[in-house]
Amino acid sequence: MNRLPEHPAKRISASNDGAVNTRELTRDPVRDFGEDDADALAELAQHIKAWGRELGFGAVGISDADLTDAEEGLASWLEAGYHGEMDYMAKHAMKRARPAELVAGTRRVITIRMAYLPASTLNGKVHESDATADDQSSAQSSAQASDWRAIEWARIDDPAAAVVSIYARGRDYHKVLRGRLQQLADRIEGAIGAYGYRVFTDSAPVLEVELAQKAGVGWRGKHTLLLQRDAGSLFFIGEILVDIPLPPDAIANPENAPEHDGSHCGSCTRCIDVCPTGAIVAPYRVDARRCISYLTIELKGSIPEELRPLIGNRVYGCDDCQLVCPWNKFAQAAPVADFDVRHGLDRASLVALFGWSAQEFDERMQGSAIRRIGHERWLRNIAVAMGNALRSPTLKPDERVAIRTALRARAADASELVREHIDWALLEEGRLDGID
Ligand code: SF4
Ligand code: SF4
Repeated sequence: MNRLPEHPAKRISASNDGAVNTRELTRDPVRDFGEDDADALAELAQHIKAWGRELGFGAVGISDADLTDAEEGLASWLEAGYHGEMDYMAKHAMKRARPAELVAGTRRVITIRMAYLPASTLNGKVHESDATADDQSSAQSSAQASDWRAIEWARIDDPAAAVVSIYARGRDYHKVLRGRLQQLADRIEGAIGAYGYRVFTDSAPVLEVELAQKAGVGWRGKHTLLLQRDAGSLFFIGEILVDIPLPPDAIANPENAPEHDGSHCGSCTRCIDVCPTGAIVAPYRVDARRCISYLTIELKGSIPEELRPLIGNRVYGCDDCQLVCPWNKFAQAAPVADFDVRHGLDRASLVALFGWSAQEFDERMQGSAIRRIGHERWLRNIAVAMGNALRSPTLKPDERVAIRTALRARAADASELVREHIDWALLEEGRLDGID
């Protein structure tokens, strides 16, 4: 079975390895605990799970660190060039499949998940300051009639709306997860004394979906992201690599036996069918070079012209393959307020976001994962979405005027990259209706 090691969604930048808070793995935990300390280790594992739940983690699993089975899939994905410009993925390729080489002394991996769907989004809430009575009533009945996903699809269908991936609408999840994982690591230390560990937060250096599957924390869907039956896929993953020989769940809790790719997907292919760019080239295999998350977040230069019309109004990331997944009717609300929507990123228009100056972008995106792409790429992405809006037959006349005006106002932007995308946006309009 093909295995895709990484889906570009939920990633933030090629330079970030997500690794935090390391303590040297120097002691010999087997000696310290003793091979006959199985009961003490089992008890510790139970405590770790309970502490994790207290910290807001929706699931906590423990696995060994052997990812030998994943190496072939990783090598073939890289060989196909599907990682695009994400050179860091190729750089330490096999280290990433060998946690004990990445962090010497690693014996086990504790994997956690934390939901990120804002409660206001899950409840289909329209922001009171912006909504009319009709909006409220229509949003509420829409949410009741279907669910929050209907509202997300409606925004994707609105050419003047700026769609930002749900996970990026609040605070940078790395900081949030980092703090919670560190608290879990500290509680372990409080119980057993100093031990070796390293914390990772939804990061590229480790094959976290493989580790999560081993730990029984879900399965890889055909879109390559992790799913769990009681939570869908709208959660972050984090890991603590430890030198403690904890009992892996596959042995200690056979009912949490490791999942495998597509465990509960059955014959469904909705995520593959819905992908706007055809990036899911086969089940469990994403060509990152075609994925909108990669194109709008990871790619530094010009967005390939043939892909621009397919991006629609998605200005930062893409959720389509998750929105369409039936398991996300079980998506859970984030347990922390940090992921609450900031700066109206669940309802902003293209014109409003395109109007942010560099200073406004820096100030408003302080503490957000979005800040890492910088103002230039932010404008590049929105210019593409504006070009698509101008091509849309459903764009309202006043919105057309506003978008055209906003693009022209920035047509002399200092950045060649931005200028080129603005030219493309206006050219497409001209081709369509003869304007200019
Ligand atoms: S639907 Fe396609 S483009 Fe969007 S995140 Fe999924 S794989 Fe990427
Ligand atoms: S949409 Fe269907 S095939 Fe894709 S991950 Fe969800 S259940 Fe699996």
